[in-house]
Amino acid sequence: LFFTLAPASAADKPNVIVIVGDDMGYADVGVHGCKDIPTPNLDALANAGVRFTSGYVSGPYCSPTRAGLLTGRYQTRFGHEFNPAGMAQGLPLTETTIADRMKAAGYATGWVGKWHLGGGDRHPQKRGFDEAFGFLGGAHSYFPDKGKGDTVLRGTKDANETEYLTDAFGREAVAFVDKNKAKPFFLYLAFNAVHTPMHATDARLKKFEGIKDTQRRTYAAMMFAMDEAVGKVLDKLKSEKLDQNTLIFFFSDNGGPTMQGTTLNGSINAPLRGSKRTTLEGGVRVPFFARWPAQIPANKVYEHPVIQLDIAPTVFAATGIGPKVDWKLDGVNLLPHLTGQSKEPPHDALYWRFGTQMAIRKGDWKLVKYDLAAESGKGTSDTKLYNLANDIGEKSDLAAKQPEKVKELQGAWGTWNKGNVAPLWGGGKAKD
Ligand code: CA
Repeated sequence: LFFTLAPASAADKPNVIVIVGDDMGYADVGVHGCKDIPTPNLDALANAGVRFTSGYVSGPYCSPTRAGLLTGRYQTRFGHEFNPAGMAQGLPLTETTIADRMKAAGYATGWVGKWHLGGGDRHPQKRGFDEAFGFLGGAHSYFPDKGKGDTVLRGTKDANETEYLTDAFGREAVAFVDKNKAKPFFLYLAFNAVHTPMHATDARLKKFEGIKDTQRRTYAAMMFAMDEAVGKVLDKLKSEKLDQNTLIFFFSDNGGPTMQGTTLNGSINAPLRGSKRTTLEGGVRVPFFARWPAQIPANKVYEHPVIQLDIAPTVFAATGIGPKVDWKLDGVNLLPHLTGQSKEPPHDALYWRFGTQMAIRKGDWKLVKYDLAAESGKGTSDTKLYNLANDIGEKSDLAAKQPEKVKELQGAWGTWNKGNVAPLWGGGKAKD
């Protein structure tokens, strides 16, 4: 075989960077056909590796999916079902993060960006990250003089940041790579772009003056800033010759917020239906890419469903430190699937629970109960059945025609749900 998946020596250990966008629309990236916002660096990242067409996150909100990412476990396993209401709530201390395990294995670990997993004992430096730069809350002003959001920190101290925040995060990510280039490193770069507030620099707004809708224009300028920051990180890896042996993941933490009552930002989820806050595809199916030139072929499009929970076990496998059975991970190591060793789908099914909303995707089938707020003002829908193979927009409910399929999927979801616990807080009202 052409690939050896276990690193031969410490010198071969890959670097790992996980980049997260915030509240991006499914349609709003070049490789998904976006025309009004160029995203050359995200496109380059995707084209240098694999683009997942059924890339999911385990929740339709910021904090729950970040909890799932860092643990590799459905966040409903440990009560992190909703956004925390304040800094005293956050990723339960019962859970071990990717960074904890990477640090224990000798990696230099760093977090840059938005945390949204609690403060105090839940500060990133208490959860496995050697270095920390960013804010602990769920949303933040992009301009230092606009004053919305908690303090931008370096470690636990005020960073006295003066730059546009997305630019600052790009700068800090590059600095982390520079500082740690001689040893294997793990960087978690979690942008708050393109989450509200809608703040963009004048120069970038000017670039998009052809977009008449002012919210969309600002969103475009914010997206472009994030794309530029990603480009700076990619350029740095290249100039340090770390390009080949760095595994990078990129995904958005949830779908674009397109329905009233969410953090509307001008995003577009087409052809998907639904929004941030729903378990429809528009809430949980997101732009999702991975690249690792040393191991993953370029220009690959992968269509079996994957989920952000797979990132942790994939990283553990790539770095030779796991995954181990007693870590109780729900995600799976994607490498055999991406190198062609395995033709099987990584998952039998994927599952969601978000209060009274639920969903399961098994093969092309999706069973879902979703938030009706966008359509009727309140409540949760009846159970609907869609076949995503020919109905990616979830328009044609087949539940009445296929009661056996409904029963099968409902049963599988129920079995999965037995492994969940009650939410530790909240009811999904938080808007971050
Ligand atoms: Ca989000």
